Amino acid sequence: MLVSARRSHRYRFSVLCVVALVVIATVLPLAAVSAQTVTPASATPTGPSDPCKPALTTADAGDRYIVSSAETNLRSGPSTSCDIVAELERDTALVVVGDLVDGDDYSWAPVSSESGEGFVVVANIQEVPDGVTCVKAEARAETGEDGFTSDAVNLRSGPGLGCAIIAQLNSGTPVQVRGKSIEGDGEIWLPVSSPMGDGYIVHDAYAPPGSWEQPVAVAVLMYHDLNDNYNRFVVAPWQLEQQLIWLRDNGYTSITPRDLVAFLDTGAPLPPRPVILSVDDGWASARVFRDLLTAYGFKGTYMLPNYAELTPEEIYDLNQNGEVCGHSVSHPFLDQLGYDGQWYEIVENKAWLDAIIGTSATCFAYPFGAFNDTTTQIVIDAGYQVAFHAWDGLQYFEYMDRWHITRIEVSGDWDLSTFAAVVTF
Ligand SMILES: [Zn+2]
Repeated sequence: MLVSARRSHRYRFSVLCVVALVVIATVLPLAAVSAQTVTPASATPTGPSDPCKPALTTADAGDRYIVSSAETNLRSGPSTSCDIVAELERDTALVVVGDLVDGDDYSWAPVSSESGEGFVVVANIQEVPDGVTCVKAEARAETGEDGFTSDAVNLRSGPGLGCAIIAQLNSGTPVQVRGKSIEGDGEIWLPVSSPMGDGYIVHDAYAPPGSWEQPVAVAVLMYHDLNDNYNRFVVAPWQLEQQLIWLRDNGYTSITPRDLVAFLDTGAPLPPRPVILSVDDGWASARVFRDLLTAYGFKGTYMLPNYAELTPEEIYDLNQNGEVCGHSVSHPFLDQLGYDGQWYEIVENKAWLDAIIGTSATCFAYPFGAFNDTTTQIVIDAGYQVAFHAWDGLQYFEYMDRWHITRIEVSGDWDLSTFAAVVTF
């Protein structure tokens, strides 16, 4: 570690300061001091305060940190309008030298670094516990076998617990081995490439090819509207939250139809307990679904007719944060229409959706779960890759027909134990 003599000296006092910081952090998380209450160090009693030169409220905190984001600006003060002192790269060593300060919607930490003193956004740094290291080693560029993560695991910038966390990988994430494993901080580390970037994972969280068992089923949940007057077709927000917490705590990972298509076409790995959280009909409450799903770490799948109560921007956003599927122009019983009527309902709806999302939608859901042979043929001819039925419960892959994937209608009349019993496999 690059630690100057001054910082080494400072570090001796860290035990007391760690205790002090923990107390401060516990009492005042990320908002220790308001920028307005800070007075500049060199100000005369009557002079105007300079927000880019605040006085530090704790003389010497001394906790070790590193930059965790790819890059962050070291600024002269706690505001994006203050001068940039230096651009700090990931893993740059820092010492926090005072209390956190709020400014411009960020929480800022006053720090000392090799490049000077200043302020960095707290979200871009991470604390380094005592006694851990980050000795960077050259990972070979050669590519090795394709495996998966066997557990949720941190992707780090180097082979040590003192290295920056680049991303958190879910269980079942495909990774490619980039070189030999390395020891560090009592762990064995494996250099890998992942969809979230290159880095290191602990070897225990790596599953080689062939060792990964695909799940036997997918739970495709079907929701409609969301509000407090819950009934068969309406779930209350608190019920949805209860269900999301249960799914999270029981190891379920959300996938979207794109993941299902990759699994069906190429055998791409699915997480151990895949769930598709589908929300039908484009109610305005789809926005609330999106926010709650995001808050609990899930992605939604939204089945949209042309009359959806959502703006094109919102639909685009739903597809970026999950996936949107076709659901016909006007939500008729398709099996009661002739060929031309069905063609219009399916193809016009897809053209509308594709224009909004800027790509070809992969999935369709039959309104009312109603279809005949003509319906399915038009769905295939329109360019869809999978289609969803409305009923029939858990979908076991052994019995799966990709053009009629079964779903579970989640009723607002269920209690949590009923929900748990229906989605467990
Ligand atoms: Zn519908």
